[in-house]
Amino acid sequence: MASKAIILVCDGMADRRCLALGGLTPLQAARPKSFDWIASRGECGLMDPISPGVPPGSDTAHLAILGYDPYKHYTGRGAFEALGAGIELEPNDVAFRCNFATVNDEGIVVDRRAGRISNEDAEALSESLNDIRLVRNSDIKIMFKHTVEHRGVLVLRGEGLSRFVSDVDPHKVGVKFLYSKPLTDSPASKKTADVLNEFVETSRRVLAEHEINKRRVKCGQPPANVVLPRGAGTLPMLEKLPTKFGIRAAVIAGGAVYKGVCKAAGFEVLDVKGATGTVDTDLNAKMRAAVSAIKSYDLVFLHVKATDVVSHDRNPVKKVEIISRISEAFSTIISEVNLEDTCITITSDHTTPSELGEHTGDPVPVALYAPGARYGGTERFDEISCASGTLGRIRGVDLMPIIMNFLGKVPMYGE
Ligand code: ZN
Ligand code: ZN
Repeated sequence: MASKAIILVCDGMADRRCLALGGLTPLQAARPKSFDWIASRGECGLMDPISPGVPPGSDTAHLAILGYDPYKHYTGRGAFEALGAGIELEPNDVAFRCNFATVNDEGIVVDRRAGRISNEDAEALSESLNDIRLVRNSDIKIMFKHTVEHRGVLVLRGEGLSRFVSDVDPHKVGVKFLYSKPLTDSPASKKTADVLNEFVETSRRVLAEHEINKRRVKCGQPPANVVLPRGAGTLPMLEKLPTKFGIRAAVIAGGAVYKGVCKAAGFEVLDVKGATGTVDTDLNAKMRAAVSAIKSYDLVFLHVKATDVVSHDRNPVKKVEIISRISEAFSTIISEVNLEDTCITITSDHTTPSELGEHTGDPVPVALYAPGARYGGTERFDEISCASGTLGRIRGVDLMPIIMNFLGKVPMYGE
């Protein structure tokens, strides 16, 4: 029986056959050595993160992988972004993910990233948004926090709010930004849409007068003259994994949403310098952090985003390179943890075909190494090899109990 577990999730790593790779998937083309090591000594299978054929979002897929039925527990993405940004959410809060963007005089979005605004500029602008006091909705407190680049989170705090409101973000350029609308007839929905619209109106005045934007215009840079909130969410009430299984759990991730989902599930968030949630992330730093964390935690959840980023960029060749780099860095974990006492799982949160550039509902490969695991017959970690493995085909919500079973943490059902 193992007493520790490490889970590596490479976001959107699973793929389909790629013409650019001679009909192979990026995993097949990369032949990642350390992943193959796990596959050849572990239980392998396919996993439907949500349900067969359903393209998962990263947020719902992670909820499932942590053992929570996303159809029961998902309460919108915004809350995870806010938790991941370090905001202590309260049960009545409604949170949104936001972009700093540029609109022209007619309110038409011309750049959804405000010219890839720098962290410094976005940080300074965020501080003045955080000072906003609403007039029409003076009972609602505004909290705004910058995360990375053009991104930030907005939290509305007060009584009688709802997450059922539409986005201000039109999700594309060349069209006007939107006014939020209530999505139900409830007074809370109507109030929240009005609060959100008042925030956007007020923030546009604050941003227009801000020194940073005056300087940007003078230098010929696009001003960050609007904030576009989207993905309203409230704190999901989850039974925490440490309580459920009697374990200490930690997460290592770059992106706020992954930290947030794990935080909602009771994980401690370990900040690793160089973990950016992008292609340039410091993989070695993350692996070293995991090796050190597993000494004091029973479960370490390690997330790498780069595989999904290059898939959305429709770059299968780059994906092969990224997979190889992750596998190489991951060999540190295999060589440094106590393999007699550690369960190691590798998987992906969904398929992102790199010739398509968006998430699809195909299953993902999963390989689970553990002392006592019933392995055999699978030599490679890829979408096709894992299909004939001993784990068979499982759902996302099955994964955590399967891992915890190898740690002896799942109570017997019945007598
Ligand atoms: Zn994802
Ligand atoms: Zn994605």
